[in-house]
Amino acid sequence: MSETKERIKTLILGSGPAGYTAAIYAARADLHPVIYTGMEPGGQLTTTTEVENFPGYPEGIDGPTMMVQLQQQAERFGTEVRIGMATAVQFSDEPGGIHTVTIDDSKQVEAETVIISTGASAKYLGLPSEQRLRGGGVSACAVCDGFFYKGQEVAIVGGGDTAAEEASYLAKICKKVTMLVRKGHLRASKAMQNRVMSLPNIDIRFNTEVDEVLGQQVVEGLRMVNNQTGEKEDIAITGLFIAIGHKPNTDIFKGQLDMDATGYLITEGKSTKTNKPGVFASGDVQDKEYRQAVTAAGTGCMAALDAERYLQEVESLQEEVE
Ligand code: NDP
Repeated sequence: MSETKERIKTLILGSGPAGYTAAIYAARADLHPVIYTGMEPGGQLTTTTEVENFPGYPEGIDGPTMMVQLQQQAERFGTEVRIGMATAVQFSDEPGGIHTVTIDDSKQVEAETVIISTGASAKYLGLPSEQRLRGGGVSACAVCDGFFYKGQEVAIVGGGDTAAEEASYLAKICKKVTMLVRKGHLRASKAMQNRVMSLPNIDIRFNTEVDEVLGQQVVEGLRMVNNQTGEKEDIAITGLFIAIGHKPNTDIFKGQLDMDATGYLITEGKSTKTNKPGVFASGDVQDKEYRQAVTAAGTGCMAALDAERYLQEVESLQEEVE
């Protein structure tokens, strides 16, 4: 590893709405933030077509454009945006301690505060036809993209609370929703199960999986397979929603930061504080419940305010000691 090292006040990991909002606030508070974009600069929104539910855009805005604008807003106040991926961390246990983050296995950044906004990634089935049609009718977010399928027939994969909630949402907009559940029962809570069962335009297919998504440029249909009988069936659909869970991007924090059984970072009360002083978490990496751009942005703002207050506290403690 090279010896390149630098010391900064605030390091932000991740460039989705949480990271950029944290950067806007931190930069305006003179914390001179440096943001490392991660593998997917702009985050999950760069894979969305149109964002119609972020307040302030009455005509909607496409995801990539919105992220470029957020970056420009952060840069306007002096944020330094760098391409790079955090590959290791060493967080201090001491209030006022220095945290060390390794970038791309080659450079070390020492920071007084770290804001983690590394997000979560939607899980996909991994079928070639599914991957080819992502953005062409295959989506992992019904709340983001469901509206484009108004009045049409769609399908959703998954049997958990997310799938049940999204199926009910789609049922309000779409003509018919076929729900593919790989087991013989739903994993979703009883209340959610009752809701999907009660909606007449949701057709639940148990023991059923996706064999192939049909269509070259856009989704035109779905070949389903019954995993008990092997029987296949084609249906005509224009949208396929994958709701089989998300994976928070927290692997490098294991053993240092408190996380729940599924890997989401745990924050203290209503704050963005993690269990390490000076390390904060915002956005989807600490939120498996709401997962919206606007809620991520909100917690990004909170993380920057928490970091600013923490630095002030550390400064006054040091003054008392001197
Ligand atoms: P879950 O892990 O709970 O459910 C995932 C679902 O996808 C399961 O039915 C699982 O099947 C299925 N699945 C996984 N992999 C595949 C695959 N390769 N092919 C087909 N099906 C697959 O994820 P959720 O996102 O639904 O929920 C995450 C957490 O968030 C849960 O704790 C949930 O309760 C919570 N949540 C709560 C909400 C609420 O309270 N309003 C709303 C949304 C989420 P199988 O059952 O066979 O494993």
